[in-house]
Amino acid sequence: MSEFDVIARYFSSLGAGRRVELSVGDDAAALSVPPDSELIVSTDSSVLGTHFTDDTFSEHVGYKAVASAASDLAAMGAEPLAMTLGLTMPSVDDLWLHGLSQGLAQACRHYALPLVGGDTTRGPLALTVTVMGFCPRGQKLLRSGAHVGDRVCVSGTLGDAAFGLSLVQGKHRGIDIDFDAQEYLVNRLSFPLARIDLGIALRGLATSCIDVSDGLLQDASHIANASGCRLVIHQDAIPLSTPLIEAAGDRHALQLALTGGEDYELLFTLPADCDIPDGTVVIGSVEAGEGVDCGLTLEETGYDHFH
Ligand code: ADP
Ligand code: MG
Repeated sequence: MSEFDVIARYFSSLGAGRRVELSVGDDAAALSVPPDSELIVSTDSSVLGTHFTDDTFSEHVGYKAVASAASDLAAMGAEPLAMTLGLTMPSVDDLWLHGLSQGLAQACRHYALPLVGGDTTRGPLALTVTVMGFCPRGQKLLRSGAHVGDRVCVSGTLGDAAFGLSLVQGKHRGIDIDFDAQEYLVNRLSFPLARIDLGIALRGLATSCIDVSDGLLQDASHIANASGCRLVIHQDAIPLSTPLIEAAGDRHALQLALTGGEDYELLFTLPADCDIPDGTVVIGSVEAGEGVDCGLTLEETGYDHFH
């Protein structure tokens, strides 16, 4: 099968959208962006051996590549516009490509991100997804605006994907963990939810925002550094799911929330007089100084152990 057959069979049907003027098939795509908005662009790569293995379902690879890129749009407060896909693969594997296109299609519909172009080349298996979104001019959310006195908030629950990863890696074989809990935790890893609607709702309210892709401590430190302040996090306030606590126990669950990655929740700061959005909780406050304080030593966070 030629490169063109691969594109026609697996990718060219996902390209229609309200703002798509020209999709797959020409030298470039054309998109219309609402007047007085800024184009927001982010790229994420997924590489065999680093982000997924030979055992990972290609459907999950496709879905997650888009969802993790979409999460960067959420963190900017952007509305999804379109995406492109750079695909490198050693040979044409129809079964794998079929799964990939199913996962892409699911994410493309869910996030309203039509696939408007890309590049298909031969080489070691890797995907690069570039997502584009838009925001009214001046309203994008940055990492850099947190003020002393703001509250630190986070959506959803943290640590689930990290435990899901250790389950997939077979690290808990022989240990009795409830099947429904396992299913929930692995799903949190394989089908992360980018918080697009929350990001949009935070425009004009949040003083800073980031998506939690590298663990709460790491991502909180990005806000602290960019904003020139200190983030104080109350460990008891960190939202943990019941399945995670059941599977991992309180202490390990907290460690995973602090240092595990790929939760794709939003971490943001809000002025003291703002209502807390549904589905989010206050976990701390912004103070003068630098860095992140969660009341634990580096060793107690399990940081050394997981990195
Ligand atoms: P060119 O040589 O002009 O770069 P290509 O032959 O690489 O064009 O691609 C043909 C068309 O198919 C282009 O519109 C391109 O954007 C699209 N395309 C190529 N690979 C992919 C892919 N993996 N996913 C979606 N569209 C793709
Ligand atoms: Mg090309």
